[in-house]
Parts: sequence; structure tokens; C-alpha cells
Amino acid sequence: MNVVILGGGPCGLGAAWRLTECGHDNWELYEQDSQCGGLSSSFQDDDGFWWDIGGHVLFSHYSYFDDLMATLFPNDNDWIFHEREAWAWMQDRFIPYPVQNNIHNLPKNIFWECLEGIIDLKERNQDNVPAHFGEWIDAGFGKGLAKWFLRPYNYKVWAYPVEELDWSWVGDRVATIDLKTILRNYLYNKNSISWGPNSQFRFPANGGTGSIWRTLADNLPGNKIHLGYQAVSISLKKREIEFQNGKKTCFDYLLSSIPLTKLVEISDLEAPYDKPPQLKQSSVHIAGLALKGSPPDYLSTKCWMYFPEDNCPFYRVTVFSNYSPNNVPDITSQWSLLCEVSESPLKKVDHNHVTEDIIQGALNTKLIADRNDIHHVWQSFVKDAYPTPDLNRNGMLFPLLRHFEKQHIFSRGRFGSWRYEVGNMDHSLMQGVEFADHILKSKDEVTVWKPNTVNNPGYKDMNK
Ligand SMILES: Cc1cc2nc3c(=O)[nH]c(=O)nc-3n(C[C@H](O)[C@H](O)[C@H](O)COP(=O)(O)OP(=O)(O)OC[C@H]3O[C@@H](n4cnc5c(N)ncnc54)[C@H](O)[C@@H]3O)c2cc1C
Repeated sequence: MNVVILGGGPCGLGAAWRLTECGHDNWELYEQDSQCGGLSSSFQDDDGFWWDIGGHVLFSHYSYFDDLMATLFPNDNDWIFHEREAWAWMQDRFIPYPVQNNIHNLPKNIFWECLEGIIDLKERNQDNVPAHFGEWIDAGFGKGLAKWFLRPYNYKVWAYPVEELDWSWVGDRVATIDLKTILRNYLYNKNSISWGPNSQFRFPANGGTGSIWRTLADNLPGNKIHLGYQAVSISLKKREIEFQNGKKTCFDYLLSSIPLTKLVEISDLEAPYDKPPQLKQSSVHIAGLALKGSPPDYLSTKCWMYFPEDNCPFYRVTVFSNYSPNNVPDITSQWSLLCEVSESPLKKVDHNHVTEDIIQGALNTKLIADRNDIHHVWQSFVKDAYPTPDLNRNGMLFPLLRHFEKQHIFSRGRFGSWRYEVGNMDHSLMQGVEFADHILKSKDEVTVWKPNTVNNPGYKDMNK
């Protein structure tokens, strides 16, 4: 059984790892870029600063994933371990994440507006199923929180109106509110900060997030990984792939982790599957600010921050030098911020002006005091960054994935399966692993088909 893997990101590498682990050596991996890692790659700029494609946080829903990380990086000093310190910048102050349970930090009138909205929820008909993500926000958090944080923040991240998004992806990604906690926090002047699956995370000590995937690739048989190979056409009848360099290869099974829309475009599908699926995505502009000096005290232990307001273009900024001191050449005199700005056809961004807008936003939100603190800016534009869970997605997606499977083509990974709810690094790697287990051992692919199961907090322990 000849297995071909398209794409050397976490998903493709996960498939290659698991096939090898199971003793199935008949596989080849083809990646268009000159290194493995995909969206989880890291880059060192000419001045020695390391950058991720947006701050990547490694956490896991799977014991298999944890074991693999321990195999690849056996020493504790391979990692920097973090207690998450996430915040939202609102009303000229930092509010601890999740905002919804720490609203007493907001100005009194806004705190009351949020509280009133939550109290009013009691009168809502609990049986109404929200028609879209906007309604889900209003119904779960009340009008005040929706207005001041959840609606503007989500528009900034997704780059689509919340009325166009489904809410079934939410899973363990959005903290629900708890009135008792909110009031207790207010009365005792406390904050709730430990919610969520990423409340603790780790980061590679050296070489950014991408070092995880470079190390994984280095532990696979090198002669099976083919870099600089871009797939340009796929014949389903012949089960043959052609690359831009004219080379061809055949497969019995294909694991494709390239964007599903691209897979459709280059495959000779027959009607009704031959038309480009109207799947939505958003893009992200990344600006890495390489800074002189040291972070101000109020940023010195922060991990990342959310920005719902319109005084800056970014939705999130990571204090990247706090993840590892080795992300900058000299931590005693340098530090770094990684800023992310989303874009879609409904939220246009002026590419020529975005960097200046980011710098101005960093000044407006007090991330930096002076533009002279900037040594240089590293920039990256990622066209396919977020697979959008819009309301029409599943109706198009599921039949297409199943149709490909009938041709022995498994489209998996963040943009392969187009499922944001299982689109993180651990999910993507496991989609590759589960593909291998499926074709070798007829096991179910849980991640791609049952996101709620794997995102359930108890899933990891159940599968130890
Ligand atoms: C801004 C941002 C922040 C993120 N933050 C986090 C985070 O904090 N934590 C987390 O766990 N995850 C995070 N992620 C998600 C993480 O990057 C993905 O989960 C992961 O990279 C997906 O792996 P993949 O293998 O499915 O896809 P990809 O990483 O996209 O890999 C696909 C590979 O296919 C290759 N390819 C494409 N077309 C072709 C072709 N025609 N021929 C050959 N090769 C091709 C690409 O070059 C790429 O290497 C973030 C993503 C973004 C964009």
C-alpha cells in the first residue's frame, strides 16, 4: 500500500510519524516549501530575531501528542513552561482573560451594563437555538458583554460579521459566564484567570514553534521527505500526482493537508464536485516589532493580549520575547512583540499602510512608548490563516470530504478538513496520526469527525 502525503505541516508529519511507527515504510511526503512546518513554522530574521506566524501556544488534547513531544524533546530545558497571562486591553487598561468573568475591572458604568445584560438573560427563552454566532453571544453573555467585548473582538479576529458565523465550533474555546464568580470577584477584588485548556503551556527554548516541526521532520527518514515539490495536478482515475517540476508519483492512499479548495482546483473531479467550493477563509498580516531596551513592567510577564477596540488594527499581540528569551539575540537589551491583523473580502486591509497602522496602534494602546524604540519590523502575510466556520460550511464540506475519501484521498489538517474547531497544532498532527491508524488498522478518525469528543476536557485522560 503506497501512501503519499501532501504537505509537511503538523498534519503531514503526524501521518508520516505514525506510518513509520507502525512499521509501514511505503510512504513519501511532498512539501512545496524549503522547510517543514507549514503555518507552524518559525523564521529567524537577518538581525537574529525569531518569529512565529502569529504567536503559537502549544497545548494538547491528546496523551499521544504529549508522549510524542516528550520523545522529541526529552529534556525539561528544551522547553520554557508558562502559566498563561492573557489580558484584554479595554478602556485604557488591561482586563484579565477571560474578560467575561473579570468585568469588575471595567469602568463602573460599563461593568453595570455588562452585569445588567447578564441578569436580563434570566428572562430569555432557554429553548431558542441561536441562529448564528451573534445570537449565541447575545444569548450566552447578555447585551453589555456582547457590545463591549465579544462582538467587536470576534469581528476583529474572524474578519466576518458574527451573523455569518456558526457557533458549533466554540467547544472549549470560549469561557461561559458564571454570575456567582463575577460577583465574588467583585466583592473580594479577585480575578479568575485559570480557565481553559491553555492555562499552562510550553514553548521551545530555541528556534520558535517551528523547531518542534523541524525536529520531528529530522527524526523521519530524510530520503522520504521531498522539499520544493508543489503539487499542480491530481488524476483521480490514475491516482497520480504531478508536481511543478514535472515529476509524477502514484498513490494507493493520499493524505492531503493542502487547502481543500486547492485540492479541488488541481483534481480532475467530476460534476457536481468539480466546482470550487465556496468555503470561506481569512488572512492574517503579521508584524513582528523588534524592540530596543526592555518591556515596561506591565508587559514583563504578559503572554498575549486581545484588542477589541478600534484604536488599533490588531486583534491580538504576543510579547514574543517572554515566550523564550532566545527569541531575541540579546534579552538584556532587546524584546519583541508579534501583532496580528485579520483580513477578508468583508474586512479589507490596506497592504501598503498596515505596518504603519500597527505601529500607531501599538502607540495608542501603550504597548510601546516611542516609535524610536523599534529597531526593525518583520512582516509576513498569510493568505490562508483561519478556516472560517460560516453558516453554510458543513453542507458543502462534509459531502466533499466523503467524496474524496471514496477515491482514497483523505483531506485533513487545518485547511485540509477546513474545520477550525480541530485546527490547532495538536489537532492537525492527530488528524494525520488518525488517518494512518484508519488505513492500517481501520480505526475511526475521531478528531475530524467528532470535534466535540476530542475537545472534551476529559478526553485526554480517557485515552491515556
Ligand atoms: C495566526 C495563527 C496563529 C495560530 N496559533 C496557534 C496556536 O497558538 N496554537 C496552535 O496549536 N495552533 C495555532 N495555529 C494553527 C497552526 O498553525 C495549525 O494548526 C497547523 O500549522 C496546521 O497544520 P497542517 O499540517 O494541517 O497545515 P499547514 O501548517 O498549513 O501545512 C500544510 C502544508 O502544505 C503545504 N502545501 C500547500 N499547498 C501545497 C502543494 N500544492 N503542494 C505541496 N505542498 C503544499 C504548505 O506549504 C504547508 O507546509 C495558528 C495559526 C495561525 C494562522
